[in-house]
Amino acid sequence: MNEAIALTRSKLGYIYHYSEERQEFILHAWSRQVMEECSLIKPQACYELKNTGAWGEAVRRRGPVIFNDFAAEHPLKKGYPAGHAALVKFLTIPVIVEDRIVAVVGVANKDEDYDDTDTMHLNLLMDAVWKVIGRLRAEEQLNERANFARHNPAPVLRVAGDGRILLLNPAAEEALGAKRVGTSAYDILPELEGMQPEDIDPDAPLRLEIKLGDKWFAFAVVAGQGDSFFIYGSDISLRKLAQESLKAVSLYTRSLIEANLDPMITCDPDGLIMDVNKAAEEIFGRHRGELIGQLFARFDANPETAFGSFRGLMAQGSITGFPAAIRHASGKVTELSLNATLLRDQNGKILGVLATGRDITKLKRIEEDLRRAKEGAEAASRAKGDFLANMSHEIRTPISGLLGMIELAKSAPAMDKSREWLDLGAKAGRSLLRIVNDILDYSQIEAGKLQLCVEAFDVRELVSEVAATVLMLAREKGLELSVAVDPDVPRRLFGDRGRLAQILLNLLGNAIKYTDRGSVRLQVAPARPGQSENALPPTLELSFTVADTGIGIPLDKQAGLFEPFSQVDISSSKRFQGTGLGLSISKRLVDMMDGSIWLESEPGRGSVFAFIVRLAEAPSEPDTPDTPDMPDTPDMPGTSGMPDTTATPDAPAPGALRGRAPAELDVLLAEDDPINRKFILTVLQDAGHRVICATNGIEALALAGTTHFDLILMDIQMPTLGGDEAARRIREREAGEPGAPRTPILALTAYALPEDRARFLSLGIDDCVTKPVDVNELFATMAQVTSNLRKTANAKAPRASAAQAEVPAASGFDQTAVARRFAGRFDFWAELAGEFLERSFPSHTAGMRSGMERGDLNAAGKSAHTLKGVCGTVCAPLAEELAAQAVIAIRGNDTAGLSALLTLLEQEKPRLAASLAAAVGKSGSGGD
Ligand code: ADP
Repeated sequence: MNEAIALTRSKLGYIYHYSEERQEFILHAWSRQVMEECSLIKPQACYELKNTGAWGEAVRRRGPVIFNDFAAEHPLKKGYPAGHAALVKFLTIPVIVEDRIVAVVGVANKDEDYDDTDTMHLNLLMDAVWKVIGRLRAEEQLNERANFARHNPAPVLRVAGDGRILLLNPAAEEALGAKRVGTSAYDILPELEGMQPEDIDPDAPLRLEIKLGDKWFAFAVVAGQGDSFFIYGSDISLRKLAQESLKAVSLYTRSLIEANLDPMITCDPDGLIMDVNKAAEEIFGRHRGELIGQLFARFDANPETAFGSFRGLMAQGSITGFPAAIRHASGKVTELSLNATLLRDQNGKILGVLATGRDITKLKRIEEDLRRAKEGAEAASRAKGDFLANMSHEIRTPISGLLGMIELAKSAPAMDKSREWLDLGAKAGRSLLRIVNDILDYSQIEAGKLQLCVEAFDVRELVSEVAATVLMLAREKGLELSVAVDPDVPRRLFGDRGRLAQILLNLLGNAIKYTDRGSVRLQVAPARPGQSENALPPTLELSFTVADTGIGIPLDKQAGLFEPFSQVDISSSKRFQGTGLGLSISKRLVDMMDGSIWLESEPGRGSVFAFIVRLAEAPSEPDTPDTPDMPDTPDMPGTSGMPDTTATPDAPAPGALRGRAPAELDVLLAEDDPINRKFILTVLQDAGHRVICATNGIEALALAGTTHFDLILMDIQMPTLGGDEAARRIREREAGEPGAPRTPILALTAYALPEDRARFLSLGIDDCVTKPVDVNELFATMAQVTSNLRKTANAKAPRASAAQAEVPAASGFDQTAVARRFAGRFDFWAELAGEFLERSFPSHTAGMRSGMERGDLNAAGKSAHTLKGVCGTVCAPLAEELAAQAVIAIRGNDTAGLSALLTLLEQEKPRLAASLAAAVGKSGSGGD
């Protein structure tokens, strides 16, 4: 300002900045004189162009304005504010920079007139001044920036267009090293080389990441003032570290995934593949790139299953072991078992599915092979089982024939030694039969064909029967046989009575076989009393123990004894016969009953074989005489409770002889084997039945169609037409003739399997008798199936008339039964029968009569029941039948019937005596 006043030799001066946009003046400077001459304390700092008078004219004209006579009137003059210094001469010029008026300068009160030289000087001065002002301003700005940057902890640089570092803040110095000003930035920012600030888009700064020392920086490069770059840095070392470790972690994770031998697949919620690992690539036979984005189900050989599994997964969140069959690019299919879970983000949103699979192709193939092998083995086993069943039938048929013939020969008057030979033959035949039965049993157990047949039974009765069966054997060896049943053992239980008897017979038979002196003892007791209280029906563990004082078994031989074919003595000179199957069959039967069997033994002192089975209690039959207050085995007290008593020879169990000869019947016997046919025919005729024979099913069918029979005995295996088919056709024919009587049919069969029996019954057969035929069993079954028939006959003929009826052939003692039951010990039977006639029979009939007369039918019933049992024991079938009828009559309060039956019983007594005498006489003459 002062320069301008001095240059133009003026006295006053001012500078206003001017804004073209706002058209207003802003005071920049006054000359000191003006201030001195002005009484204005506070000059107006801002003027709008439109309000200015002559001094604004320089802007309006965009050129200098000179007033050398300011006092003269002038239309532009608006006058100056009060207190303003008086103007005499006045020069004002606009300062124009790049066509824009940026300021106005005014000088006044020169002594001489202002002229163009002043204008020129002023213009030149203001140009120079303005440039200086501009530079100063720019530097100020720069300084400001530098100041600002000084405290910036991040590096800031200014770099010239040629790469020289112009400026850098302390943080940049620290990062790049001190004394960098003037050096080239290209060594740290090589990207800048060849670049000019104007190359950089102002909206998109150039971003660079550079490592300096051990630190990482991110730099943003922008175009700076003049020909320079501004470079703003930030320390990103921490971020880089995090990125590096993240990269390391994901590399680690990825290698884990890739190293997995099992395929891994991720899919999005629509089932599109998002990623796969190497193992999966191999199974699909395609690269990751080919698989990503494809529908997973597209590669499954059963897309429907895949879709189903996927839907299940989306619904349940995870699924395991779902099958997939992935088709390889080559067409080969791999069976996978997949486990899959849903992938979710932190907010629980489903991102997709992660499935890991296991190649189970081999496993499946092995499974398939195993299944085929198993089927093959099963088929072979079935074939073996069928073969064995068939063979045993084939073997049993001739044995049964042999045994039958021997029985017949024995009942005929025997000569000298021939009776003994026959006994030996029968014995050999029976042991052969036992072996065949054992083998059949064993093979059926092994083939899983043997089934338990559970029914309610009386434990004491079972034990009595078993004991009676082996009693003779024990007595022959002079052994004491004792039986004890704990009183806590319930009377009736559910179980397979026949199989329990088989186990007990095995154990007792062994005990007797392997004991030369002393005793064999059978004990039955609850194994864990009280355990059954809460069970429904109540169950209990029952223990059966067979102890002997025999040869014992060395410890090292005990372990394998329950395995098939294992025996202690396997030398060719062994003392004892046997197949070594008995114990293993027993063990398997006990296993089937969910029980356990074991032994304790000491050589020279004896053995104890014991087993425990769990059985359910059966309700006791309320009206049967088998109530605890009526023991049915009065002659064998050892079976009814502790303490045990020794069984004596005169106490065979009555239940051991269950057969009784039924009344005379018209029987059709269909049997193809001549020896069997002859045996059964003779047995039936001996029992007083009328028999017609058929040799095959066709003949049987024809005979049954023309003649009435009370009973048909039908062999199952017959040529031309089997017995099963013949029976079916007979039933068919009966059904077609309303009113025709239904003839009971009994099957004779070597097949004793439960399923065979069920099949026969379904064909209309009433019951089965197993071959070789046990005469008692045959009669008992005949009595059972014809009982309806007899009942009808009884109804027609009053019992009193039965008293006058001719005595049936089964009157007296049944010698066939005696021969079978007493196994050659005829004299023993004779002794027993004598005692029976002398004491038992009279005492029981007297008990019945007195009970009847006193009106105490209960007492009469007990006597009748006991008599029935004893008659069975000594093989007196008619007396047994009459006693049985008496039991029925008493139950029905039929005193008249009872009285008639008592008469019949008393009439039977002399016949029994005669029968005994005849038998003894015969036996004596036979030399027995
Ligand atoms: P088997 O008696 O037909 O040979 P088992 O399976 O019944 O077959 O018995 C296997 C073996 O166990 C017998 O051969 C015998 O050596 C031994 N054994 C079984 N019971 C007894 C026992 N009570 N005393 C001594 N040894 C026995």
